[in-house]
Order: sequence, then structure tokens, then C-alpha cells
Amino acid sequence: MANTNPLGTLTPDTLAGIVAAASSTGYEEWWGRVRSSGYCAHPIHLTRTTTAGTTTVYARCENRRETVCPACSDLYALDTWHVVTGGLTSEHLTDAAAVFITLTAPSFGAVHTTYADDPGRSCRPASKGACANGTPTGCSKSHQSGDPAVGSPLCADCYDYETHALTTWWFPALWNRYTRTLRRLVTRQAPGVKVSFVKVMEMQARLAPHYHAILRANNEPGAPSITPDTLMTLAAAAASLIRVEVPSTSGTTPLRFGAQVDVKPLRYQEETRRVGGYLAKYVTKSITSTPLPARIPAANIDLLPIPAHHRRIMSTLMRLATLLPDEYAGMADRLGTFGWRGHTTTKSRTFSTTMTAQKQHRAAWRAEHAAAPGNGSDSDAEAGQADWEYTRSGHKTLGHRYLAVTAALTHREQLRTAHTIDDTTAPTGQGAP
Ligand SMILES: [Zn+2]
Ligand SMILES: [Zn+2]
Ligand SMILES: [Zn+2]
Repeated sequence: MANTNPLGTLTPDTLAGIVAAASSTGYEEWWGRVRSSGYCAHPIHLTRTTTAGTTTVYARCENRRETVCPACSDLYALDTWHVVTGGLTSEHLTDAAAVFITLTAPSFGAVHTTYADDPGRSCRPASKGACANGTPTGCSKSHQSGDPAVGSPLCADCYDYETHALTTWWFPALWNRYTRTLRRLVTRQAPGVKVSFVKVMEMQARLAPHYHAILRANNEPGAPSITPDTLMTLAAAAASLIRVEVPSTSGTTPLRFGAQVDVKPLRYQEETRRVGGYLAKYVTKSITSTPLPARIPAANIDLLPIPAHHRRIMSTLMRLATLLPDEYAGMADRLGTFGWRGHTTTKSRTFSTTMTAQKQHRAAWRAEHAAAPGNGSDSDAEAGQADWEYTRSGHKTLGHRYLAVTAALTHREQLRTAHTIDDTTAPTGQGAP
């Protein structure tokens, strides 16, 4: 089982590093920088030289993965929550219909499954017999979450790896086609109605992407309007209409969404807040529990400590990159994301406040507070001073990193105890207003 603890394993070497870091000269100064970066696990070092001397400050890494940096992933979750719930205030929902939809990739072959709401349930007990390769088509085990078998195919040779890789690669294009189709269907029923959305990508255990999206239709007063029920029907209908033909080793391959489309109306403020919390949680989950760099040299595929299914997806991407370089050379640079090349969170322009607006708001807040006496001058790095220069990133030793991450986790606990957290409240963002 891969290590999901952002602290990593506490080895004797790390322990010695912690002691050395905490007793080193300059510890107080270093700790001040760590605190002003919001306990970032991989801070960016910026220096500025003036007549008064050289100053170094730490800026946040802004990595959204919990396993890389708990402090920055919390902040990312908070920003997402603001973007989502910001588009679902009573002001936005007046004369509007909103639905929550999940669009999956289709099946590429049977995979081992766990059932969160029924952990004792067997994987695929009903399926008897064997496939053409002699592999049993059923599985009587009841897999627990964390079982590395979950998400991997019953038979890797029957599993359609090429269509899987192509679907991940083209998933953002499927979404574009989807929104165009949905807007057309809505306009046909009620011209003048504007459809906006926010969506979050989540990788399933089988490493195929799926989208969780909120769709909002804003009606014009006195004109034909769209009800939540109509929007639900049209949203599901649009998903079933999407077909995209893409180049493949067999000429072309049609891509589509999975047949199971889950769509629910969002009628009440509480529902929208819960969905906001739910989406915010997804964005900080790593694609896999072991964070991989996006670029992995092809020669290293066989050396990585990853499940066979993950390795097979990577070698399929390399195969496509090699066989169809005009179309897919870029896949070779996306092995670590399993062919994913889109953004995690995207929204249409009119949905709500943007992530950038959130960041600017925070930078302004920090600049204001940095000016207050006793706050030091460190925090103005985020206010966008032009003469700061990048020197390096990360903490000096694993001991330093351990201290920063421990502080980030303790700080989060304190915030959670201070405000009782449930699914309807904003995630705790460290160092945010
Ligand atoms: Zn960070
Ligand atoms: Zn199974
Ligand atoms: Zn088979």
C-alpha cells in the first residue's frame, strides 16, 4: 500500500534532521518565514537585495495535492469552495435552475470493485466462466478500500487500454462538445436562457477521469424558462448524444461518456453548500496516493513502484506517442498524470468569482496585514513586488520539511476544533482571510 501520509515515514535520519534543524542557528528567522508561508511544505525562496542588505522570504508552492503540501492543498480546497458556492447564492439562483451531474468514462473492461456502502459485498460473484485468455470473469472476494486490486482489470489482456488512454487524453474535448450540445438543447426550448457551469475532474480507482459538474441555467424574466426538471432531462440527454471520433492505431475510434449519468437537482441553499464542500474535497486528492511528476522518462516505466495496471496505462501512452507521433507525441510528457492534460477545476466565465480573484483578494489581505506593526516584512512577497528573485524551492533538509508539515497539520486541527466542521462548511484554509 502506498504511503499517503504527507509527513512520509519518520526514519532515524529524519529524526536526527529535525533535532539538527531545531537547534541550528537561524532557526527563529527560518521559522518566521515558514509561518508567513502558511507552513508550506515546499516553499519558493525569493530574495531581494537593497542597500539595507539581502532579504529572503518564502512564497507558497500552491500545489493542490494533500500529499505534497497539506497547507497549500487546504487553501486550494477553500478557493474551490468559494468558486462553487459563490455561483450558487440566492442572487444567482433567482429565476435559475441548477443541477449536479457526474459524467464518467465508459467501461473498458471489468475491473475489481469495492462497495463503500456495503463493504462485505463480493466483487463480481455472478460472473462464471473464463474469457478467451482463460482468466476467470468473476471474483468472489470482497475488496476493502485501499486494496491495490481495486480499479485494476480482471483480465489485463481483454481490457481496452488504448480506448482508455484515448478517452483520458480527449476528455476535455468531450466536455467542450457536451456544453455546446447542452446549450443548443436549452436554447431550442427557451431562447435567451444562459447556461454556465463549474466542474471538477476526479480520477477513479481505474485511473479513468470523471467530471462532477454544477450546471446553472439563468432564465430571462417574461421569456420561456427552464425548470430544474427540464435541465436534468436535457443534461442527461446531451451526455448520451456525445460522440467524438479520434485518430487511433485502428484508424479512428469513437469516444463517448459512460452510459450511467447521475444527475440531481439543486434546490436549496443547504444542498448547494454540501455540493461545494464535496467538490472542494475532490480537488485535493492526488491522482494516485503516490504523487508522480507529470514527466517520467519512458525508460523508467518498468522501474516505478506502481501497480501493473498503472504501468500498462503508461506503456499504452508511450505506444500511441510512438506509433502516431503527429497526433500523440505529447502523451510521452504526460505519463505521470496517466494521459490527463486538462485542468482540475474549470468554470464558465459567468459562473462565479474566479480562482485568480480569490488569490488577488488574499494577496491584498496579506499586504494590508503585513503593514501592521509586529507582523514583520516577510508577508509582502505575495503582494507581487517585482524585484524579488527566485532562488530555489523546498526545505533545506527532510527535518525542516517535517517541522513545517507537522505545524501545518497541527494548525489545521486547531482550526477544525475552533469551528465544528461538517460537510456544509467551508474547508479550513490556512493563512487565508
Ligand atoms: Zn505549499
Ligand atoms: Zn475482485
Ligand atoms: Zn481476458
